[in-house]
Amino acid sequence: MTHIVVVEDEPDISQVVSLYLKRAGFSVTAFTDGLGALNALIAAPADLVILDVMLPGMDGFTVMRQLRDRSDIPIILVTSRREETDRIAGLELGADDYVVKPFSPQELVSRVRAVLRRARSAVEDSQEVALTVGGLTINPQTRVVTQEAREISLTAKEFDMLYHFAQHPRQVFSRDQLLENVWGLADYIDPGTVTVHIRRLREKIEKDPAAPVHLLTVWGVGYKFEP
Ligand code: CA
Repeated sequence: MTHIVVVEDEPDISQVVSLYLKRAGFSVTAFTDGLGALNALIAAPADLVILDVMLPGMDGFTVMRQLRDRSDIPIILVTSRREETDRIAGLELGADDYVVKPFSPQELVSRVRAVLRRARSAVEDSQEVALTVGGLTINPQTRVVTQEAREISLTAKEFDMLYHFAQHPRQVFSRDQLLENVWGLADYIDPGTVTVHIRRLREKIEKDPAAPVHLLTVWGVGYKFEP
């Protein structure tokens, strides 16, 4: 059974979310604090985490950072704050999706399903072959990228995006197409997410991120990968 950990200090929200997830066929463990959830997840990994940002003690961002140091477990962040900076920070830290309170529990269940689907198809995609393009070797089995014998550390989504570009050299993708192809969630995620990930990838793979030679902007259209 797919196991979901809910980290939420507001009992009403935690109960409703847990109820809807159980009705949808998931097993659920709920925590009211970040540290307790983190320790439990380190001891016994789950399939997905729904993580509130504002928690007593260790906040959701800190929990996420600690989790990301250890695994690619899918994470959906929950916040009551609407600021752009929070959303961007969450996505940069590696959240797979993001919901803002108040949200409908049914919508959250849909997102859980979408994120799980995406995570599973990423595992299936990893059966694909290693690519060597533009001086980069991209191995989907080990999820390791090397450039001139130097290993480049990428987040899960940065890797997925780079692999997608490398599979389609010189093809231009709009931000919406990238959301659909890399996240599988074009309806939910802000296209600004793509911009953030492009910038982070450039910082990691380009010699001069301000003057990229591989990951190019096609003004008014989107992005392409030039080997
Ligand atoms: Ca809270």
